[in-house]
Amino acid sequence: MFYEEVKDKMEEACGVFGIYAPGKDVARLAYYALYALQHRGQQSAGIAVSNGKQVRVHKGAGLVADVFSDQSLNNLKGHLAVGHVQYTPINSGLAVNAQPLVCQCLKGKMAICHNGNLVNVKELKEHLAARGVVFQSSLDVEIVVNLIARNGGGGLKEALKKAMLELKGSYALVLMTEDKLIGIRDPYGNRPLCLGRLEGSYVLASESCALDVLGAEFIRDVAPGEIVIIDQSGCRSFKFSSRSTEALCVFEFIYFARPDSTIDGLNVMRVRRAMGRELARESPVEADIVLPVPDSGIAGALGYAGELGLFFDMGLMKNRYIGRTFIRPEQSERSLAVRLKLNPVTELVVGKRVAVVDDSIVRGTTSKKIVKTLRNRGAKEVHLLITSPPVIASCYYGIDTSERGQLIAAQKSVEEIREYVGADSLSYLSLPGLYRALKREQGFCTACFTEKYLLGLPKEVR
Ligand code: SF4
Repeated sequence: MFYEEVKDKMEEACGVFGIYAPGKDVARLAYYALYALQHRGQQSAGIAVSNGKQVRVHKGAGLVADVFSDQSLNNLKGHLAVGHVQYTPINSGLAVNAQPLVCQCLKGKMAICHNGNLVNVKELKEHLAARGVVFQSSLDVEIVVNLIARNGGGGLKEALKKAMLELKGSYALVLMTEDKLIGIRDPYGNRPLCLGRLEGSYVLASESCALDVLGAEFIRDVAPGEIVIIDQSGCRSFKFSSRSTEALCVFEFIYFARPDSTIDGLNVMRVRRAMGRELARESPVEADIVLPVPDSGIAGALGYAGELGLFFDMGLMKNRYIGRTFIRPEQSERSLAVRLKLNPVTELVVGKRVAVVDDSIVRGTTSKKIVKTLRNRGAKEVHLLITSPPVIASCYYGIDTSERGQLIAAQKSVEEIREYVGADSLSYLSLPGLYRALKREQGFCTACFTEKYLLGLPKEVR
């Protein structure tokens, strides 16, 4: 499918948000926060709001701006809200699977949003189905809600703790009961989640950029294995796991997160620039100009060019208006479609030795087309520089990677990839180089580069 071909990127699965603000109507704040998190998922969006007695939800397929109208936001009255944006692979049943999921639980309604992927879904589903649970969606969160409900005898705190201890895999959860907002991060801290304050209210978000947009003050990241409960008594938290190994998804820094976000103490923009600098030290090329593949290659290209004292410019122009509804082009229109997405500034590249910086290569189809287009526009040499190591393995923690067989680095050597994309040279950042950019070696999941799946694997692939 052409859309898939144009994407040729790892895709973040979700962004989550929550707010507790007594005395305020919060639906619009949730809406703006989801706007700030839109890069984490463009296929569906939803907000659930509670006024302390009743939970209402509005969700649907599409961008935040498409899903919500003035009227739908006006209908969401209340001081407590959770929201979600989601990337869902095409043809996966969007209407049923949009979040938040709202259901009856404990002594009232609960709305829940999930970022990540559980690896013991099959086992948990079999276990629950054997006890009479009927599932209405294919969402992992439905399992989570059922586990919380089944452990409800000892109160909410105990129910949450017991339910979390049954989950394996990756999750950042934001959920609400009719009067409480709750944030939970898995024991490895694989997906980000942070806590902020807004004029005496509390907010939870996948990324700090959502806090910035609301004018909220960043308090801290929710710790791996921590549950935060916010209600009229304030904000309290407890750990449900004492695991010492952390595994934050390193791809947050490479591609997923917004450069203005800070995750677990690391600013994304700074790390991306440092990746570019490290790559420049490892693999300097003689070039007349350094071009980023926008947008995620920009910071790396700045770092690369700065380290080597090379000329940097925005020589590839991105069309920001290509979406899911793009009409599939005829075979004869394919190269037109690629130029529509990324078009070189001919005056900058003609007769030049061009260094192109991108954050990663997944299938290689886009890189090949970029190299070809630059050559067609008169570039004398094209050097491809990638600010991450080769992606050799699929992700099972909520990121939509291609099948392993479609990952070019799982099939070919670096030299074979260079030949395939048609570049004069191809260099990837090494794993030690990536760690130097991050300023630490521990605490990250790097499974798509190393096949070290610290959070475990689903039964089907074990
Ligand atoms: Fe992130 Fe890769 Fe780990 Fe998936 S496998 S969580 S994409 S680092």
